[in-house]
Amino acid sequence: MNILVINAGSSSLKYQLFNMKDESVLAKGKVERIGMETAILTHEPSGKSEVHEVSEILEHTTAIRKVLDKLVHPQQGVLTSTAEIDAVGHRVVHGGESFKSSVLVNEDVKREIKRLFDLAPLHNPAHMLGIAAVEANMPDVPQAVVFDTAFHQSMPAPAYLYPVPMALYRKHKVRRYGFHGTSHKYVSERAAAFLGRPLEQLKLVTCHIGNGASCAAVLGGKSVDTSMGMTPLEGLMMGTRSGDLDPAIVPFAMGKEDLTLGEISSMLNKHSGLQAISGISSDMREIVEAVEAGDKNAKLAFDMYEYRLRKYIGAYAAAMNGIDAIVFTAGVGENSELLRKTVCEQLTFLGVEFDEEANRAGRGQDRRISKPGSKVEVLVIPTNEEWMIARDTYALAQKTN
Ligand code: AMP
Repeated sequence: MNILVINAGSSSLKYQLFNMKDESVLAKGKVERIGMETAILTHEPSGKSEVHEVSEILEHTTAIRKVLDKLVHPQQGVLTSTAEIDAVGHRVVHGGESFKSSVLVNEDVKREIKRLFDLAPLHNPAHMLGIAAVEANMPDVPQAVVFDTAFHQSMPAPAYLYPVPMALYRKHKVRRYGFHGTSHKYVSERAAAFLGRPLEQLKLVTCHIGNGASCAAVLGGKSVDTSMGMTPLEGLMMGTRSGDLDPAIVPFAMGKEDLTLGEISSMLNKHSGLQAISGISSDMREIVEAVEAGDKNAKLAFDMYEYRLRKYIGAYAAAMNGIDAIVFTAGVGENSELLRKTVCEQLTFLGVEFDEEANRAGRGQDRRISKPGSKVEVLVIPTNEEWMIARDTYALAQKTN
């Protein structure tokens, strides 16, 4: 069975085609600049040369058609016909309170995703374009949707409610939803397998530290708290996002700097975080390089980023009354030796015994970076959200047969 995974944005679309039998990736790629005459299709078929093509792609239906053409192309393709695609899985950012797990797409599901546009105005409309585009090209293929928020629907009310008038929750569904759920779930499962212990018995803090970053407290395989909130702005300091701050700063800064709602939102989402403090970059690689070159602002940005992450790990130890393992994943978590070292060396009070040598070895693999016998284990597990989407889609599609 072959599953096509789609992550549709407003002007881009990423895809991966999985062969579920041997869990291999047959092809992957992306279409960028959808809506322009110079859209770029990058196609990477397994075992064949990468293809780059510039052409006019004005909307998502054409983008999907071009992707399908590439997948069945006599030289650049990996399939003989699109009939070999058994199901399509979509990443959807916001499932609100309606979706606690992945589901097959039907009219009710589409209606509900549309109803949630308010909560994810930049993402959910784009995902709907992706779903409609697949429908237009392959009307008979089952489609599934996998939500970033679903894994965190297990949070209890004290973790997901904000201490504001309940009318905001009742009328407008203002609450913590959390994001990166597919990744937190994936690395939790991998961590249990790596440790050779049942997930149901583990207390994990999973740290998805990429361009966007969030932590989750995962108790017995269920998310019981997470750092991102109603939107992906809350929680950790990120590349360009502020993370937690005193909400009174918003009206104060708007008044003092004469900012509109749009401008303050843009400031907190796009012009804060590592970028704002370092004045150099939102990219952790460049921050670390600047720290090593002695740049004081980069050092301050790094220290704030690390400190805020470490505080969350401590908070989640309290939330679960202990931790068995801390898991690092995503771009920064998987690659920044300095961040992991700085965080872990100051968690000795929890029982973390950090292994510096292991921290430097084994990039790209699931690995342990705590010393043998450390009371709290520390793992690095490369995330694979696309695989999780394929797995859920496969399971749902099998039920339709
Ligand atoms: P993601 O959102 O998971 O794709 O992660 C993107 C982030 O990972 C970027 O901010 C990169 O700076 C960061 N990253 C990638 N490689 C490294 C590295 N070797 N050291 C530090 N950060 C890295």
